[in-house]
Amino acid sequence: MPESISQLTAIWNRSLKRIKDKLGDDHIYDTFFGGSYIDSVQGDTLLIAVNSSLGATVLTASYTELVQSCVQEETSTNYKVEFVNQGSLKAAPLEKEEKKPTFFAEARLDPKYTFSNFVVGDSNREAFQAALMISHNPGGTYNPLLVHSQSGLGKTHLLQAIGNEIKARRPMAKVLYISASDFVDEYIRFATGAKQDQSLSQYFKNDVDVLLIDDIQYLIGRSKTMEMFFIVFQALYTQGKQIVITSDQDPSRLEGIDERLKTRFSSGLVLPIQKPDLKTSEAILRMKIEANGLSAKDFDEDVIEFLASRFSSSVRDLEGSLNRLLFYTINLEPTQHITMDVTKKAIASLISAQESVGKLTEDKIIATVADYYSLTPAQITGKIRTSRIAMARHIAMFLSRSLLDTPFTKIGNSFGGKDHATVMNAVSKVEKSLKDDESLKQAIDDLKQRLKAK
Ligand code: ADP
Ligand code: MG
Repeated sequence: MPESISQLTAIWNRSLKRIKDKLGDDHIYDTFFGGSYIDSVQGDTLLIAVNSSLGATVLTASYTELVQSCVQEETSTNYKVEFVNQGSLKAAPLEKEEKKPTFFAEARLDPKYTFSNFVVGDSNREAFQAALMISHNPGGTYNPLLVHSQSGLGKTHLLQAIGNEIKARRPMAKVLYISASDFVDEYIRFATGAKQDQSLSQYFKNDVDVLLIDDIQYLIGRSKTMEMFFIVFQALYTQGKQIVITSDQDPSRLEGIDERLKTRFSSGLVLPIQKPDLKTSEAILRMKIEANGLSAKDFDEDVIEFLASRFSSSVRDLEGSLNRLLFYTINLEPTQHITMDVTKKAIASLISAQESVGKLTEDKIIATVADYYSLTPAQITGKIRTSRIAMARHIAMFLSRSLLDTPFTKIGNSFGGKDHATVMNAVSKVEKSLKDDESLKQAIDDLKQRLKAK
């Protein structure tokens, strides 16, 4: 008799495949079976939790036999099935009244990242295709999928698009998008013993159907967290749940990631995103222009080509150059038609920033730290104090102080008007942690390297 949750989940997943085939109607299947699971086994009856009370009624009246026969084929046992509404199960008092911590309460998908606003070209076609396939059939053939590229080439966009598409197709699916650094934060926050470890892995088993984990390289140097991640990974993987990972390197080159994880990653599908070719960069620009409510016709053709070739090493920079140009032509030199002249003026400072090797500024530090932690500069200088943002902010302040020797008050001004004491505390906190936090040391070294390369 199946006992563990993972056994029940596996049985149900396989039965669902049969049910789906027999039904032959994806719409009915998604509507009524979406988010269903085996709640428990009671004698010879499987209690199937479904997504609404209407669903429970309809399934009981019309599909009991079909479901029983599929389960029978899967388990060779004559289970009866009963359908109950998940809502009513949750309302019932828990057997053991134990407070479960809420994990990843802040994790959200960002609806702005979709497949329809992702421009496909030779540089990203395969990654796009795999992402699309996965969102139509999570947990299917491509598991896990790992997409890797340099920064700014669309990994986060694709990862989020997978999540948004799955949610659109199956609203009940439990999709978790987090960056590996969120995972580190959460682990540090909750897991201080075996019991907490267990409740974190229970959370993944029960409350996550699809795990989208961004920038896996943040696990490097975090051996305990990595161990936990391995457990989570295994649990999800053996339950047939979809896992998608991004990283800044091919997994074989991810120095410092557990070999067992690397093996697991490599056993799935590993795809790179390359820098876009000129044609793709131009197509991206045109799309971003339209997305801003303008028309590519308002731009001289050579402007588009100029920007596309100049900023092709990162789509993020390409977008940045367009935003700069739009800001300039709306606020500083209003014009109907955007010519090469105006463009050069508008982005002169961006280009000189690209070219001014060695000239470090606070803005560059903020931008580099933001990029390193997958945040925006506005988050770094803003007020939100989630641990990842606050840590990145403190590091940026520390770097401004130690590399530029900027007075605390001035740093405070550059960081959205924070006061002298706040900055001083942040800097001394980082200084203190540096003494015994290897991974922080590593991060600061990496950041210094990156800033040198600017
Ligand atoms: P990464 O995660 O690889 O650093 P992001 O996914 O954050 O990169 O992409 C940076 C920016 O570029 C985002 O605003 C994203 O929407 C945009 N972008 C990247 N690739 C494409 C693409 N192929 N089509 C449209 N926008 C893209
Ligand atoms: Mg990213």
